[in-house]
Amino acid sequence: MDDDSCDLAIIGPGLTGMSAAIAAYSKNPDLRINLYGLPFDSNTAKKGEIENIPGTDKIVGVDLIQKVTEQLEKLNAESAQKVVKEMKEQQGVHKVSLSISLLQLEQASSIHIINDNVKTVNQIETGFEIITESQKHNAKAVILSTGLPELKNSIKGEENFVHKGVSHCAVCDGALFRGRKAVIIGIGNFIARGTLHLREYCRKITVICPEAELGCDKRFLKKIERTQNIKIHYNINLESVEVVGSNVVQGVKFTKEGEEKEISTDVVFIELKDKPNLTLLQGLDIDVNDDGFIQTNEFNSTNIKGLFAAGTVKGEIDYSTILMGDGYKTGIFATDYLEQ
Ligand SMILES: Cc1cc2nc3c(=O)[nH]c(=O)nc-3n(C[C@H](O)[C@H](O)[C@H](O)COP(=O)(O)OP(=O)(O)OC[C@H]3O[C@@H](n4cnc5c(N)ncnc54)[C@H](O)[C@@H]3O)c2cc1C
Repeated sequence: MDDDSCDLAIIGPGLTGMSAAIAAYSKNPDLRINLYGLPFDSNTAKKGEIENIPGTDKIVGVDLIQKVTEQLEKLNAESAQKVVKEMKEQQGVHKVSLSISLLQLEQASSIHIINDNVKTVNQIETGFEIITESQKHNAKAVILSTGLPELKNSIKGEENFVHKGVSHCAVCDGALFRGRKAVIIGIGNFIARGTLHLREYCRKITVICPEAELGCDKRFLKKIERTQNIKIHYNINLESVEVVGSNVVQGVKFTKEGEEKEISTDVVFIELKDKPNLTLLQGLDIDVNDDGFIQTNEFNSTNIKGLFAAGTVKGEIDYSTILMGDGYKTGIFATDYLEQ
């Protein structure tokens, strides 16, 4: 195995992937684990506050990711200390300070966060080859935890107004539109949270929902329904929706019950989730279900031996604690596989 090759490659350092890394390390600290991607690019880091984690107060997503990243660093320090201790025992205390190099300490750590997106995963005789934008490593097993990408440019006019009144994150950009009118397009808890966030800043909020219900938790729905300046249009075919304006966004057109409508707005938040992006696995014949999610068995193993999937990429319910649990158990299953 070359220096940067590993036992376990975890692709996607969101809550799911980082939980998998902690589980694998806890089960077997001798494993070398490479965690690929950008932790602060995860959903949790980019968007809002996380509630409902047992034993934890409401926490800002980026703070949670920071804490988990620090936890991984502590685990690394722990394994480096273990190496120093072993060297002391082997060589005697005096020689250790001279003989141990920073490189050795770096190699001694068990979890390597590699801030590089993975382009391709190939199957090779010994397991897998992981190709990033700038590196190539081998791995004996892989966990895919890349989450769900945002669906972009699916609404007419959307791409003409990016940074001119179209945003893809109400939580990030809402405060920029204080006192203005806003439209938010989408469904589910994301949209409910985004809408409640906008309530703090915008004078009027219109939600355009593609289904008959918002599909969010009741506690959010109740708050939304109690707010006078929020109006929801249900059952809107998103193909009928169009963002309009001249230099900047001025309105949104859509068809409701056969009737064309146009509402004026200063900003349109489009927060739609796409199917999993599996282009990095295109050389592998991986089983997916009809909705494009990766199929796994009860051990979160895919049809390809040594390749596991965890979290929303396999259609898991999008709650932090569930994703942490799913990541954690996948870390255990992958470690069991490696130890066999
Ligand atoms: C506004 C908002 C509020 C929320 N609040 C709550 C809450 O209160 N309670 C709750 O339970 N849940 C909440 N959630 C849900 C939950 O926190 C997240 O959706 C969840 O963290 C998603 O985790 P994930 O690990 O599956 O995916 P992600 O967080 O999306 O992580 C995936 C990671 O994979 C990386 N990646 C993608 N492709 C590659 C590649 N090719 N190579 C390397 N890396 C790659 C991404 O950059 C990212 O870092 C909230 C979500 C949002 C958006």
